[in-house]
Amino acid sequence: MNQWPEWLPLKQSLRGRTPYGAPQVEAEARLNTNENPYSLPDSVVAAIEDSIHSHLAGLNRYPDRDALSLRGHLARYIETYVLKDQTHSITAANIWPANGSNEVLQSILLAFGETVAGFTPSYSMHPILAESVGKSFKSVPLQADFAPDFEILKGFLTSRKPDLFFVTTPNNPTGRSLSSAEIASIAESLATHGGLLVVDEAYGEFSDERSAIELLDLHPNLIVVRTLSKALAFAGARLGYAIAREEAIKALQLVRLPYHLSSLTQAAAIAALDNAEILLSGVSHLKVARERVSESLQAMGLTVIPSDANFILFGGERLTAAQNLWQRLLDGGVLIRDVGIQGYLRVTIGTDAENEKFLETLSRLLQGS
Ligand SMILES: *Cc1c(COP(=O)(O)O)cnc(C)c1O
Repeated sequence: MNQWPEWLPLKQSLRGRTPYGAPQVEAEARLNTNENPYSLPDSVVAAIEDSIHSHLAGLNRYPDRDALSLRGHLARYIETYVLKDQTHSITAANIWPANGSNEVLQSILLAFGETVAGFTPSYSMHPILAESVGKSFKSVPLQADFAPDFEILKGFLTSRKPDLFFVTTPNNPTGRSLSSAEIASIAESLATHGGLLVVDEAYGEFSDERSAIELLDLHPNLIVVRTLSKALAFAGARLGYAIAREEAIKALQLVRLPYHLSSLTQAAAIAALDNAEILLSGVSHLKVARERVSESLQAMGLTVIPSDANFILFGGERLTAAQNLWQRLLDGGVLIRDVGIQGYLRVTIGTDAENEKFLETLSRLLQGS
């Protein structure tokens, strides 16, 4: 554990902490951070280059701090690719972008509420971000199969009345989704005491459920957070965004840093969104591959949590019996994620070759132990 020097007035709440992050190490198959495994095709690279190029001479000026053009593109992306029901209208006024959805989540925590809660296990950055801005985070445990217990949740919401409640769907690291009806009922419970529901849909494009964005007409106390990092294969560029009622978006602007989103990021993201169809083309293949990997894991006698995302949480007695499995997979050239849940590991769906490599290596290691 870190020993901090006396001259450094580090906040008490941060002492003893380590920075967030999965190991970034070389491996033949890197299946640990839920990225899209396909690199950008040449045509999209060229479009991004052109778009960035047209902004280079203007770098002496600050970027559009309201990112209006980008927000318009994001709104069109949502209407075209995300909403199933065209009666909903999303405009730039409903969108707030930032450097990755993590920055969006941080802005939400800076702008709203004193008391924060969410399910555990879920995205570990939600409590970390809450605590880093001085808020405590109360956890509502998921059941043994990682599905929520809605009776327990109702009881928690009515007795504790959190200002903010976080839901990740599909959930990371478990892969399970909530239905629209379930999300609506959580929003309704929160509304009775003036609470806000944050729905993290980082993996929305991989899911068969409908987006919570469609609930905004009936449930104003809802902020949906999405990202270009996963399905849209744009993790390196850092672009995430909130979708909410106009008033909530205006409130987020109160806590934004001046000119937070560089003109290069805005230009790159606009070009990427213009090519969304191409960037999304790997998603359906990844969903099919997910089912294949899932079946193979089950055939090895492992427990597989049903996934609606681009990763799978798996475990079971054979995994528990195998010593140091994570490290031995890495030694075999396969990097996956130990998310800190006893008896489980999480693997991201990669290219067909990476998935084969993972399954072969895992099968060999399980046989040897
Ligand atoms: C990957 C992930 C994010 C994405 O973060 P970015 O900052 O947009 O790259 C957000 N939420 C969850 C649940 C994630 O798994």
